[in-house]
Amino acid sequence: METFSQPPPELGNQYTRDRLLRSYLSRALPADVRASIEPQLMEMGELAGGPLYGFQRADRGNEPILTSWDAWGNRIDQVEHTPLWRAAEQLAAQRGLIAIPYERAHGEWSRVHQFALVYLFTPSTDVYSCPLAMTDGAARTLSASGNCELMERALPHLTSRDPRQFWTSGQWMTESIGGSDVGLSETRAQQDADGRWRLYGRKWFTSAVNSQMALTLARPEGNPAGGKGLALFYLETHDAGGALNNLSVNRLKDKLGTRKVPTAELTLQGTLAIPVYGLSDGVKNISPMLNVTRTWNSVSAVSYMRRAIALARDYAGKRVAFGAPLAKKPLHVDTLAGMQAELDAAFHLTFFLVEMLGREDAGMLRDAEPDLWRLLTPIVKATTAKQCVAVVSEALECFGGAGYIEDTGLPMLLRDSQVFPIWEGTTNVLSLDALRAVAASAALPAFGKCVHDLVAGAKDPRLSSASHEAQHAFTHAQRWLEAATARGTESVEAGARRFALTLGRTLGLALLVRHAQWSLDNEGDERALAAAVRFARHGVDLIAADDGSGESGLLADA
Ligand SMILES: Cc1cc2nc3c(=O)[nH]c(=O)nc-3n(C[C@H](O)[C@H](O)[C@H](O)COP(=O)(O)OP(=O)(O)OC[C@H]3O[C@@H](n4cnc5c(N)ncnc54)[C@H](O)[C@@H]3O)c2cc1C
Repeated sequence: METFSQPPPELGNQYTRDRLLRSYLSRALPADVRASIEPQLMEMGELAGGPLYGFQRADRGNEPILTSWDAWGNRIDQVEHTPLWRAAEQLAAQRGLIAIPYERAHGEWSRVHQFALVYLFTPSTDVYSCPLAMTDGAARTLSASGNCELMERALPHLTSRDPRQFWTSGQWMTESIGGSDVGLSETRAQQDADGRWRLYGRKWFTSAVNSQMALTLARPEGNPAGGKGLALFYLETHDAGGALNNLSVNRLKDKLGTRKVPTAELTLQGTLAIPVYGLSDGVKNISPMLNVTRTWNSVSAVSYMRRAIALARDYAGKRVAFGAPLAKKPLHVDTLAGMQAELDAAFHLTFFLVEMLGREDAGMLRDAEPDLWRLLTPIVKATTAKQCVAVVSEALECFGGAGYIEDTGLPMLLRDSQVFPIWEGTTNVLSLDALRAVAASAALPAFGKCVHDLVAGAKDPRLSSASHEAQHAFTHAQRWLEAATARGTESVEAGARRFALTLGRTLGLALLVRHAQWSLDNEGDERALAAAVRFARHGVDLIAADDGSGESGLLADA
């Protein structure tokens, strides 16, 4: 009996096939930088869409394994990564995914170089971006610390291209009493008789538990409650003989997604640690790490959107329904176009942030730009994470029933994406952070000027309504903030998410308008224009008329 079987979706070279990435790099990068990094992008694109993608599918059923005891009754707490992750670690070191911004061969453009590679690498390596993000964050935090001893000890490992020398780092912040409200942390730091600091407590979410080091928070004895009373500590997970540093891995968490990531609960039982800077202000002092990990999160979110759309588009050319491939069905094409418009905006938003991080690294941010960068980091993370979950969910539907079937590898994309809005600050927490960033700083006027300048160069009349929409949405957000501030803190807090996401979508649209005009002028390509028009139609201004009537009343049950 002959039965029909469907060819699976294929990817091909993920660099050469990515119109969005290539067009962005053509506009943004100086020609010599682009020429110098293009062979690396070609190679990573080939790997990501070919052998690495095949490896990922073959590794689908594997998960990290925690072995708590050896055969002789010794507590060992060893975690073994899956074969895909072991390969990903080697590849990440060799291709310099952490080293590139520290080598800074391309000056302010080194972050674009790094993250263009990360964007290609991430969706084929099942969130190996998680330990890499924390490693990059730790390298930056230590670089900024001025603590020469720790810099000399750890930086050569964190930024090594030699897999035998390469270290990853954990970021152990969350405790069961508070993840967002990390100032509640209960871990104590005490000096022993030799004057060495030892940590006691329980860390509730520690991904990358296999890392050689971690940055963590603990409260030195006698310090006051709250985030100010915490200090930032450096620790190594094992001693020179390979024994665990007085800590135990209680268990690996059983998670919805990110199942290759060994996220552990840990008990610290006198773990030796070194203060990074001073003995207080730990929450403030760990912020360089968060600026980096939130940027990685944004890049990972756009990379997952891109992967889901690449698969859905390929499938649309193969799957026949009602006499024609889905790619010929106007409504299916319209659905894909809507997803692509979201990706275009998220991509430009993310790489705008990446450019700013590169200029920050190079000490080039001027005037109000540091304030703007401080505002954009939480906004871009929050906006792109939400877009990613929506787009990847839609992409699964593009496959019909196959999108719901595990061994297609598709459901994993959605489960993994769902972490992007949660870790590194939830949407609400980041929205409140955005409010702090605009208070008493030049960030909001700088944001408005940025939107204005981006759309000012759009000459094509087909872009005028999108340009108008971006400017209008910004003005509305600004007016809302003034009015809500007059009403009081409760009004401001209640609207913070609408405010933050409006700013994110507004800047995404303005960047898309700028790129669309450039692409018309330089590439004769109308696709970015179509994305801008479409994205504007999706809705940018999310600030509903706020009459202060107290929507919390909606939650009353009786
Ligand atoms: C897979 C995974 C891996 C992780 N890995 C790590 C890791 O390696 N290291 C680490 O330190 N952490 C890690 N985390 C923890 C993660 O960062 C926290 O879960 C996250 O910060 C939220 O903290 P919480 O879980 O305590 O939630 P809560 O803080 O209890 O938040 C619950 C809800 O309340 C909302 N909320 C909180 N405060 C406010 C407010 N003031 N106003 C309005 N809404 C508010 C939040 O938005 C959220 O919706 C990981 C989490 C996951 C899922």
